[in-house]
Amino acid sequence: MVKARQCPECDALVMLNKRYCPECHATVNPRAPEDPVVQIKEASAFGTVLLLSLASMALFFSFAFLLPAVLSEPGFILVSAVLFCIGIVLVAGAWAVKIKAKRRIAALMKAMHVMCEYCGSVNDRDRHRCASCGAPLAEPPVNAVLK
Ligand SMILES: [Zn+2]
Ligand SMILES: [Zn+2]
Repeated sequence: MVKARQCPECDALVMLNKRYCPECHATVNPRAPEDPVVQIKEASAFGTVLLLSLASMALFFSFAFLLPAVLSEPGFILVSAVLFCIGIVLVAGAWAVKIKAKRRIAALMKAMHVMCEYCGSVNDRDRHRCASCGAPLAEPPVNAVLK
């Protein structure tokens, strides 16, 4: 009944269904499936950083074009305005990616946990009895998780 093993790097206890050590992020159980929550978080963090860096670049050049526009070249105002709009759209996109990931994680957490019918406390799905009141937990549908 061993459900956890020690991390070879830092001796922290790592559950067998977790691939990485929560303390030092060393790979402890190479055959464990990638945590879907971590996957979503990483993908959304990557997307957000990419969009935000593109946005800051667009906004930076928007302001860089603003100065010569004010000083001598009125035509640059259009370039500056377009870059500014692109920057705003990219920021909005990064924000949307974040919100979407949050919703997916919330749905996933809901799917991975079971609510006790008797006391309403939330339990991990691999439990068979409620941790609070000991009532048996109904097996929830396993599918419809990662869609
Ligand atoms: Zn470790
Ligand atoms: Zn209960």
